[in-house]
Order: sequence, then structure tokens, then C-alpha cells
Amino acid sequence: MNNIKKIPILYNRKEECCGCTACYAICSKDAISMVEDEEGFEYPVIDEEKCVRCYQCIKVCPFKTIR
Ligand code: SF4
Ligand code: SF4
Repeated sequence: MNNIKKIPILYNRKEECCGCTACYAICSKDAISMVEDEEGFEYPVIDEEKCVRCYQCIKVCPFKTIR
């Protein structure tokens, strides 16, 4: 049932994410983990099993201001 709505895309390129952790902090389902890349910067990764597609993480992201 969860597959009806698409999992949110937090960023396509790393330039679109500053690692602020706002998405991680807002997710009430604990579906987001901050994962370190090879350079030591943390980027959010969504657990598709836990995500309920509420899109709060997209709303809170400073890089995805709704225009
Ligand atoms: S859509 Fe909702 S449940 Fe899924 S990762 Fe974002 S805040 Fe968490
Ligand atoms: S809220 Fe946006 S900029 Fe901040 S860590 Fe999440 S995806 Fe990156």
C-alpha cells in the first residue's frame, strides 16, 4: 500500500543538500538516517520501509522552498 505514493527525493545532487539534518529531525517515523559519505559529510538516506510519504522532510528542506 505504501507504494502508491512515491518516496520523496531529498536531493538529486549533493549540491542540493547542505546536510542541515532538518529532514532527519522532522521525520516522525525515524525513516531518515544521516549517512557519511567518503568525504565525511553526512547526507540523509530514507528507509523506504519506514517512510509513510508524508513529505514533511521535503517541506522542511531549505533547498526545496515551494515556489
Ligand atoms: S516523507 Fe515523511 S516519513 Fe518519509 S522520510 Fe519524509 S518525513 Fe519521514
Ligand atoms: S533538509 Fe534538505 S538540506 Fe537539510 S539535510 Fe535534509 S535534504 Fe539536506
